[in-house]
Amino acid sequence: MHPRLADDLDHLPALIALASAYATAVLEQLDSAPVAVPPRAQAAATLSPAGIGAQEALRRFRETIAPSLSASAGPRYLGFVTGGTTPAALIGDWLAAIFDQNPVSRLDGSTALQLERDTVTMLRTLFGLPVEFAGSFVSGATMSNFVGLALAREWAGRTHGIRVSDEGLGALPRIAVLAATPHSSSTKALSMLGLGRSAWQKVACLPDREAMDLAALERHLIGAAGPCVVIASAGTVNTGDFDDFGELARLKERHRFWLHVDAAFGGFASLSPALQPLLEGWDCADSICIDLHKWLNVPYDSAVAFTRHRDLQADVFSNFSAYLGRSTEDPEPIHLVPENSHRWRALPAWFSLTAYGAEGHREIVERDCALARELSERIQRSELFDLLAPVRLNIVCFALRRRDLTEKLVAAVRDTGLTFVTPTVLHGRAAIRAAFSSWRTTERDLDTIWEALVAAAERLCQAEPQPC
Ligand SMILES: *Cc1c(COP(=O)(O)O)cnc(C)c1O
Repeated sequence: MHPRLADDLDHLPALIALASAYATAVLEQLDSAPVAVPPRAQAAATLSPAGIGAQEALRRFRETIAPSLSASAGPRYLGFVTGGTTPAALIGDWLAAIFDQNPVSRLDGSTALQLERDTVTMLRTLFGLPVEFAGSFVSGATMSNFVGLALAREWAGRTHGIRVSDEGLGALPRIAVLAATPHSSSTKALSMLGLGRSAWQKVACLPDREAMDLAALERHLIGAAGPCVVIASAGTVNTGDFDDFGELARLKERHRFWLHVDAAFGGFASLSPALQPLLEGWDCADSICIDLHKWLNVPYDSAVAFTRHRDLQADVFSNFSAYLGRSTEDPEPIHLVPENSHRWRALPAWFSLTAYGAEGHREIVERDCALARELSERIQRSELFDLLAPVRLNIVCFALRRRDLTEKLVAAVRDTGLTFVTPTVLHGRAAIRAAFSSWRTTERDLDTIWEALVAAAERLCQAEPQPC
């Protein structure tokens, strides 16, 4: 054994104690650490010939890397849709690395795969989906959308008598993919699947909304040459808007199409009786994408892909080899998702669900939504900002009245270290989105966030008086 490695093995308990003490200090400071840091150049890390051992590596990390990390796991990081890590999920994630399971096979007698399946069942219950939905863990919503759309492609092929999984795309006529405001990862999936980004035909939105005009969708369906794929949104990233799933279910009775629902974060509306109506009817979907590293507050990376068509899933992803065996009636994950080997990412989810239950996770969702509503009310009462969309869930989309300064506000707020929001464009106007998705965020954080936004906006407006 290499001497550094042997030395670390000899000192493993002390090393773990050291890392644990450091981790505790980091977590204790998460509330007061700069939420985001101005981008800066960092010397490139280089390969060490002899190695420096784990203790020195930890010291180097603390001194040179950690100071320029954002506090994205903290309570006031509102960029993108970023969850934190609950205490139980953190323990689960550490143990996932300690046990280092690869839940692809039952040959060695390990129950890791069983826990993964049980966790999927717990999630299906949490989201209130019927038993017809089978679920699989994947690395994120991008992969979950990829899986759902791969099944859609296989289904569309079958309607033309083609098994795309065997015969490829060559003989397949163009498949129309209909969506109003799809997440960029869905169009990326169309590229990866060989359907092509231009397969997406944009369906009109309802006025001042990101939701689909379903009369327009029906016209597309009537005019289409063959079976279509519809991508619906449960939670758009700009405004957290929802398509009308009850109406989509009725359309499904009249027309033949595959319905994929991107519910990356909006699926969590199902946890709350008050929010659940946003999803009424969503279980008519053929495939559903839900992210876990966002609102379940498990660490990256983790998501689940649900479908009613496990048979197609096994056709697309089956992975036969002599040493791994064939897909059976009850296929293992290796035959259901793009990854073969994979991290035991079910464990952090199992820990959090077991520790806090459906009620604990509902409280996180409801508190985040209440904070988003509260921010939107402060925005509406303020002279500085315009609210650009009503808050349906956890996202607040707003802009400065001074339209020329909205983009600058994002950097100005970031540089205060008090909060972080992300820029976007809504209906052609530069906008800001603030997404509440962390278990840590409280009313007190909202006050800090609001004061930081107002102070930065006032500073900007004073520094750059209105051009006349
Ligand atoms: C975040 C997100 C995705 C992509 O998820 P990743 O986890 O980053 O792969 C897809 N759709 C929606 C609606 C999202 O919010």
